[in-house]
Amino acid sequence: MPKFYGFGSCSACGIACTPGNFLDHQGKRFCTYCWIERENPEHPELKAIREKVEAAVEEWKCAKWSRDEGPLPLGPRPVKK
Ligand SMILES: [Zn+2]
Repeated sequence: MPKFYGFGSCSACGIACTPGNFLDHQGKRFCTYCWIERENPEHPELKAIREKVEAAVEEWKCAKWSRDEGPLPLGPRPVKK
């Protein structure tokens, strides 16, 4: 199990939490998007924030694999034949 596995997930939407994209409040974990949606539903960049949180999850998944394999920046390494 990679040590960075497990930032948990958002208690509101269930998205995987990534470093810098979540916060804890009264024992619950929120992604940045759900937090802002809750605190400031009129936020003009709400949609962009959602996309950023989702993109971070995809990046994090790739990083998880590449860190398992070594310092490769671009996801799973090719299969050697
Ligand atoms: Zn959320």
